[in-house]
Amino acid sequence: MMTFSNLPPVLATALAERGYEKPTEVQAAVLAPEAAGRDLVVSAQTGSGKTVAFGISLAAQLLERFNQATELPLVLVIAPTRELALQVSRELGWLYAGTGARIATCVGGMDASKERRALRNGAHIVVGTPGRLRDHLERGPLDLSQLHTAVLDEADEMLDMGFREDLEEILDATPAGRRTLLFSATMPQQIVTLAKRYQQDALRIATAGDKRGHGDIAFQAVTVSPAEIEAATINLLRFHEAETAILFCATRDSVRRLHATLQERGFGVVALSGEHSQSERNQAMQALRDRRARVCVATDVASRGIDLPSVSLVIHVEIPRDAETLQHRSGRTGRAGKKGTAVLIVPFPRRKRVESMLRGAKIDAQWIDAPTPESIRTQDRERLIEALLEPAEFDDEDRALAQRLMKERSAEDIAAALVRAHRAAMPQPEEMIENTPEARQAAQKERHRPGFEDTVWFKMDIGRSQNADPRWILPLLCRRGHITRNEVGAIRIGGNETHFQVPRAISERFTESILRTANGDSEEDGVNIEPSEAPRESARVHRTAGAKPAKPHHRGKKPNSGGFGGGVGGGGGGYKGKKPGGGGYKGNKGPRPSGPVKTSGGATIKPKGNKD
Ligand code: AMP
Repeated sequence: MMTFSNLPPVLATALAERGYEKPTEVQAAVLAPEAAGRDLVVSAQTGSGKTVAFGISLAAQLLERFNQATELPLVLVIAPTRELALQVSRELGWLYAGTGARIATCVGGMDASKERRALRNGAHIVVGTPGRLRDHLERGPLDLSQLHTAVLDEADEMLDMGFREDLEEILDATPAGRRTLLFSATMPQQIVTLAKRYQQDALRIATAGDKRGHGDIAFQAVTVSPAEIEAATINLLRFHEAETAILFCATRDSVRRLHATLQERGFGVVALSGEHSQSERNQAMQALRDRRARVCVATDVASRGIDLPSVSLVIHVEIPRDAETLQHRSGRTGRAGKKGTAVLIVPFPRRKRVESMLRGAKIDAQWIDAPTPESIRTQDRERLIEALLEPAEFDDEDRALAQRLMKERSAEDIAAALVRAHRAAMPQPEEMIENTPEARQAAQKERHRPGFEDTVWFKMDIGRSQNADPRWILPLLCRRGHITRNEVGAIRIGGNETHFQVPRAISERFTESILRTANGDSEEDGVNIEPSEAPRESARVHRTAGAKPAKPHHRGKKPNSGGFGGGVGGGGGGYKGKKPGGGGYKGNKGPRPSGPVKTSGGATIKPKGNKD
């Protein structure tokens, strides 16, 4: 068995103190004699121990030059994000603690003048993000003339994020004879090009660990109709109730939509994508760390470098583009020796593609149906019992309140109230179409709703800013237009207006009624309704002509925000939003609306060119 014993003793001691007894695969590979002193191209992912790997790979040369007492940086580590850079800095911090090496961290979003001071005071190892490093280089505090090793961490991500020029400028400022270690989760052509340009006689290291995850990650695939992706996501979240879950989407648009939907449903959720600033990223990460948020919706690129041991569930909401991405995303879970679950949500038409991807990755996934509300409720019951029976210490104030309650109510009633309070905090599961050919066919038929082949668009001057919601818009339309719920087709809610469809056959009658009821006393009568063009595509779809409106169902408690394949509808729960204009539309108050506001079919995701 390989050990760390042939390392310089200070490092071997640091590792031993940390409890790291034997090298991980990638560490063993960089410690092998043929890797000593050479340029390396290493495919390794977060979690493989790669940071310690380049840390120990640097050691011999660093410690040697260290004694020459130069004050200029000897080692430069470039990482794509602030989190990753800070993480690297922390790891090198304990690894080199006994050596007296000074580490400076230069990352976007931090106090640049402090960093300049640290650099001027002399740092042996500099860790930073490309933009900030380039900045320090151009202004002068970062002098790379004595550098002996440059490390590019998550190089593929840095290129994906558009840092190529920064990297080139930084590398061009280093001595020609430097050593270059290139770490990358994937090896696309542009990495190969970068390696060719900046490395000499590089040793390629690809460990079997790249395919890690078989042991500690259980893979599952859930087939759904394209319209049910969001519903399946919600049910998977509710079924697993993971300590932390990461949800992957293909584009930043999809991230934004899914984040909005989950937030509306009452999940503690954050989003990570290219559209977020560094400080938003920081806040999101902090929320996940201290458990204010338990769900993170992310793009592939934005999620790199996240290392949260608490992630026990990964959901591929939109299927990964290739096997490597599948591995990489899934690798966010099953860390630190814990078990993880990675679930692919597979729309029926993509099943073949996913099967071949899984085969290519040699992953044996279990094909299952999405969790049903019943199975979720069963899980909830067990979890509730466990949570409520957990040993607890009560103080006098708690006991005094308990005694007062006991005087008023039976123990059973109090316990039931407690259960209900807990239950109320949990987002509602979604009804799913049963995964049988018959049920699917029936659902398909629903989408072609009779009577809505020929419709007319109308609009009203109330939108999201006025808290427009199908739950009170529908009753309003029925009252004002003397129609029934079944006679309203698609509803699209925009910022300040809402569009909806009415079958052409009744549109004239509808218009007349609207005009007649426009002068009533009720506040609703002041809402302006008129024929209109079709709405812009960007408006949120709250219901489509395809939705079958008559059957009650239980689709969560808040309205849909559009999204995946028409997404899931609101309905079921009471509308709790604020009332528009301080006044109040009648439909907005009171008990649960009896009518559903289901959506299905309709909107589809249009992936944009940008993948982050
Ligand atoms: P990384 O791939 O650099 O993100 O590292 C993943 C985690 O594994 C970090 O928390 C490291 O501290 C830890 N780690 C690194 N090397 C070892 C080792 N040889 N044994 C156990 N854990 C390690």
